[in-house]
Amino acid sequence: MDTNGMTTWAGNHTYTGTVARPTTLDEAADVVARARKVRAVGSRHSFNDIVDSEGLLVSLDALAYRHPALHLHDSDAPDPGEPASGARRGPEPELDDATGRVRVSAATRYADLVLFLQERGRALPNLASLPHIGIAGALATATHGSGVRNPVLASAATGLELLTADGATHRLDRDADGEALDGATVSLGALGLVTAVTLQTVPAFDVAQTVYGPVPVGDALDGFDEASDLAYSVSLFTTLREDVFDTVWLKQAVEPGREPAAPAQVLGAPPLGAKAHPIPGVDPENCTDQLGVPGPAGDRLPHFHAEHLPSAGAEIQCEYLVPRENARAALTALAGLREPLAGLVQVCEVRSVAADTAWLSPMHRQDCVGVHFTLVRDVARVTAVLPVIDAAFAPLGGRPHWGKVFRTDPARLRSLYPRRSDALELARSYDPAEKFINDFLRRWVV
Ligand SMILES: Cc1cc2nc3c(=O)[nH]c(=O)nc-3n(C[C@H](O)[C@H](O)[C@H](O)COP(=O)(O)OP(=O)(O)OC[C@H]3O[C@@H](n4cnc5c(N)ncnc54)[C@H](O)[C@@H]3O)c2cc1C
Repeated sequence: MDTNGMTTWAGNHTYTGTVARPTTLDEAADVVARARKVRAVGSRHSFNDIVDSEGLLVSLDALAYRHPALHLHDSDAPDPGEPASGARRGPEPELDDATGRVRVSAATRYADLVLFLQERGRALPNLASLPHIGIAGALATATHGSGVRNPVLASAATGLELLTADGATHRLDRDADGEALDGATVSLGALGLVTAVTLQTVPAFDVAQTVYGPVPVGDALDGFDEASDLAYSVSLFTTLREDVFDTVWLKQAVEPGREPAAPAQVLGAPPLGAKAHPIPGVDPENCTDQLGVPGPAGDRLPHFHAEHLPSAGAEIQCEYLVPRENARAALTALAGLREPLAGLVQVCEVRSVAADTAWLSPMHRQDCVGVHFTLVRDVARVTAVLPVIDAAFAPLGGRPHWGKVFRTDPARLRSLYPRRSDALELARSYDPAEKFINDFLRRWVV
């Protein structure tokens, strides 16, 4: 099918489906109602076939809010050949000063919303490693950042507006619809098109980022829980080339009126004297400020600046979310992958993610440790090694990130989601003809 060559952001997978770009919600409703099969495409930052459609692929990008001062990096153009920023701007987000809730069009990227909120003294409680991603896609795939007390980004959602298979619109609210919202936030795109999202914001806060290293793997194993609790967000990085974590990134929330006080050492390692990129050898200019300089949370919680290339670009990502009680075993399993993954790893990141209530979240009622791999963009070699990664983390109860590449036993995966049948029932209630069901969902969920 013709997607005009539309690929994932990383270019490792070409989507199936014919792209439609409605410019109004009425047009979107018409397009969806007439379609035999349809899926939403967001900012294309997933790495697998989760987006693929057996009919239409609908992008709501033309309805996304764009902050006028932000110039996203070119790699984040909605489609090859289109500008990343500028011309098209959807409606401004609506911030309710009384509740701190903000309603925003679903295809808006976090970077645009963050700036909008910053100008009004508000912030999002948590962000992923990059702010370039679309809000609806991040919610749909249980995208997360790091922090023992920080759950998936979808946890901030207090409301969702859905355009369903018949072209009708529905609104789900945390207050009125309780549980149903837990079935609708991490949806894997199965319920319909999310057209707007309401998110709970918090008062603006500053974060200071300090990078430490290197830390021998043994020290990281012994001190992982303690180190993870040292700051608002903590990440450990290793290239697996030696028995060390090359860097440990601490993002400390700064109390208003107080100077940030970074620990003198973390896991025995001193702070670095110069800015670092997670991937050794890549220009750290692309990263948000470090060296303990405080700044708005929206410009410190992500590792990468919105106006720069995030990560490496030429890459494929894989990640397993392992129950927190198996953190030590997960770090040991990671170190054991050094040989099988030789020549394939750009960098690995270990993060903490707090439990949440979304039915299809890998962190459903379970604190987890995320073990993430940024691999080289060699589809054949990466595909060949996925069973090896699965063999390391599946026995620890690891659940793959929905938006990254993985191979696992579908029956095992289904068994790890106690609310899976509720999620399917909810999807069928909105989409009885299964317009939004694709191969990805058939393989792993249905
Ligand atoms: C460089 C890089 C860094 C990353 N860092 C992180 C990280 O720190 N943490 C993390 O957890 N993940 C991370 N990811 C993964 C990424 O955040 C997720 O894959 C997420 O899905 C991206 O959102 P998107 O808009 O690009 O979604 P897409 O890939 O476009 O779509 C993903 C899913 O969302 C659905 N969807 C999209 N828009 C809508 C809509 N309007 N209505 C209904 N469904 C919709 C699609 O149908 C599909 O099922 C990273 C990816 C990259 C490329």
